This record gives sequence, C-alpha cells and structure tokens, in this order.
Amino acid sequence: MLIFEDKAALRLACEEARREGKRVGLVPTMGALHAGHLSLVETARDQGAEFLVLTIFVNPLQFAEGEDLDDYPRPREEDLAACREAGVDAVFAPVSKNEMYPAGYSTRVIVEGVTAPLEGAFRPTHFEGVTTIVTKLLNLAAPCVAVFGKKDYQQWRTIERLAADLEIPAEVVGAPIVREADGLALSSRNRYLSEEEREKAVTLSRALQRAKARFEAGERDTASLEAAALEQLRGTFDSVDYVRIVGASHFYAPKAGDEAVILAAATLGKTRLIDNLELGVL
Ligand code: AMP
Repeated sequence: MLIFEDKAALRLACEEARREGKRVGLVPTMGALHAGHLSLVETARDQGAEFLVLTIFVNPLQFAEGEDLDDYPRPREEDLAACREAGVDAVFAPVSKNEMYPAGYSTRVIVEGVTAPLEGAFRPTHFEGVTTIVTKLLNLAAPCVAVFGKKDYQQWRTIERLAADLEIPAEVVGAPIVREADGLALSSRNRYLSEEEREKAVTLSRALQRAKARFEAGERDTASLEAAALEQLRGTFDSVDYVRIVGASHFYAPKAGDEAVILAAATLGKTRLIDNLELGVL
C-alpha cells in the first residue's frame, strides 16, 4: 500500500494509474476508521475502482470555533493498518494542515441551497469547509468515482450538487449507513460517549425507525411524524437540534411525489450525533 503525505505524490500516482488505464476511486475521510468507512472502500470496488485512494485529513475548515477539532481522534497507525487490511491501494494522509492550506491560502467553495437548512443552519461554516476540501481532493486525485456515506446525508447530496454544478467528471456515489447491532450508526464520534450515553444514543435510530414504520404503514402527515420523533428524542437527549422530514434532493419540506428522508441531530453530554433514514416516496 502506498502512503502519501504530500499532495504532489498523490497527484502523480493517480495520473500514473490513469495512464495505465485504471479506474481511480476516491474515499475521503477524517480517519479514526471504522466499519462504516471501510464499507465505502467496498462500495468503491463494487463501482469498479482499480486504484483506490483513501484520504485521511482532519479538515480544520469544517470545524467551527468551540467544536471538537483538537479532540478529534487521530489513530494514524491503526488507520493505516485498517486500510492495508481493506486492500486500499493508496492512502493520502497529510501530517500538517499546511499541506492543504499553505500560507496565503484564500479560496472557499460554496454550494448554496441544499446546504442552507439542518446541518447548514446549526453549523453555518461546516459545508463550505467540506466542499472546499472535497473539491481539492477531487482535483488532486481526479477519480472516476468518489464514494460518500449516507450517514452524512446532506453532505452526500451537497457533493453531488458540487460535482454537477462545477462539471467535475467524478461519479459521486452514496453508500448505505453501517450500524451497530442495536441500530446506532457507526461514527468516529461514538467513542466520546460514556457507557450511559452509549445506551441512550440508540434512541436516535429508534426514533427514526419508528417514524419510518408509521410512514410505511401509510402515515403522510410529516408534522406528526416529526413531532413524535422529537418527543422521543427530547426524553433521552440533552438537546435536540432538529428532527425534520425533507425532500431528499432539495432539503426543503417535501411535496407529494418527492423522495422523503427523515434526519435528526441531537446531543448527549458533549457529543453531537446525527442520523437519518430514507422513507420513500411521499
Ligand atoms: P468522516 O471521517 O466522518 O468525515 O466520514 C468519512 C466518510 O465516511 C463520509 O462519507 C461519511 O459519510 C462516511 N461514514 C461515516 N460513518 C459512516 C457509517 N456509519 N456508514 C456509512 N458511511 C459512513
């Protein structure tokens, strides 16, 4: 497995792979890898990636003041071992943020619309950090396929929009959410949870599952579904940022015929968790 700390080496390796006729696949991550991340590697292979690059970079631009940038786990050696085991061809893991944002760096990539509500409302600078780093990684690796998890549903939809709007030729693929046996979506941030919080955390996926079960049973009153999920979360979580059903493509209130998705964000102690479920056609 190739390991790159500098971006020029990454670009060269991807150019060489393309010259050899290989389909380049890209899986961007912030590391602290778990089975959810590794499922993206499998999805990329299923999509025909022959030179598969996984990137590990805790991107300061997508963290706001007071968020967990400094505490974010960075188990470099374990991550590299997991990549090796998963059969990744190359890891790009810059050791300094200067590799991506050298002195004089001045550019942001902003996607409007889909980034405005939900995560965008609660983390106003988050998505421009994500779209900026992802644009840079797409330009460096120039992949045929780039895989993102539906765990970060709004992020996935934002990057689809970004690639379409900026004529970026990569195919943007969304991969299913990988969950613990009890339903909790895997997340690098789950390791912040105390034992007691971990038990409570399962309520997040349960509330969404209950909404989905009612939706499948024919309930189409989205306000009632949201209210029931909110009540369930408020009983367990220290705070709830949102529980909303939106149209999966535009992220505003869904109309009849839209693909609908329910998304939630809630906090236990100092750990903010997000989750979502695709409901089907409203
Ligand atoms: P992160 O390291 O949190 O930035 O995540 C990197 C990528 O892994 C993103 O595309 C996430 O959506 C995806 N991801 C994280 N957790 C999961 C999960 N439980 N299931 C599927 N994909 C995930």
